[in-house]
Amino acid sequence: MDKPAAATMVGTEGTRHLEFNHIKGVGFITHGIFSRAGGFSKAPFDGLNVGLSTGDSREAVLKNRELVSRTLGGGAPVYLNQVHSDTVLVLKKDKTGNIPAMAGDNVADAVVTDIPDLALVIQVADCQAVILADPVKRVVANIHSGWKGSVGNIIARTIDAMEENFGSAPGDILAGIGPSLGPCCAEFVNYRTEIPEHLWYIKDGNDHFDFWRLSHDQLEKRGVKPGNIVRAGICTKCSPGAYFSYRHEKVTGRFASVIKIT
Ligand SMILES: [Zn+2]
Repeated sequence: MDKPAAATMVGTEGTRHLEFNHIKGVGFITHGIFSRAGGFSKAPFDGLNVGLSTGDSREAVLKNRELVSRTLGGGAPVYLNQVHSDTVLVLKKDKTGNIPAMAGDNVADAVVTDIPDLALVIQVADCQAVILADPVKRVVANIHSGWKGSVGNIIARTIDAMEENFGSAPGDILAGIGPSLGPCCAEFVNYRTEIPEHLWYIKDGNDHFDFWRLSHDQLEKRGVKPGNIVRAGICTKCSPGAYFSYRHEKVTGRFASVIKIT
């Protein structure tokens, strides 16, 4: 079994964010998964919505993004155009030590870097944000894994990218699975057409899928040690007052999961 949710909530300017103790313990990595507390957005996006394509005021979202950045001590934020793909964006210094120009539209669902002060952001409201940290090669990653990402195993694709680009050893990687749709609420009535049969082992008798368990299994199969995998164990649909939940609210915001090397 996973370790219990080894996480701490810290408040700054009215915001609250969750930290995984095993990743916090690395020392040179800053991260946080923000609740919806604090921020500038009005209902139904109240308050710390970082999603621009939600229908919320652009001005409020940009102020929220600044607040998230400020809370974690600044750095250049990297937001993705998330499309439920298995595409991984790799950001690394070129041979001259320069940071590459940011690819225009950042269409991807995971991002990996070894560059300090690049704050990798994933936006979610039920989907899993899975953060990875390799304290040996000093590499971090942030993954958007909704059910389509889970089916496509974007987690393994991201570890592939860490290994190929930075020489990360999976056995060194620390992983945290953020608040997301839990097995209590992840009902898939059309699972026979949506989810391949080899993944039905995570389904209970009521067509509820345990995608937290699948992420754990995908991490472990790709070489991450079970003791290095921690899940927040918080279901977003069961806690809409704390986290945005698409399934609970339909029109809602997106909360931010952020990781950077300091
Ligand atoms: Zn639930």
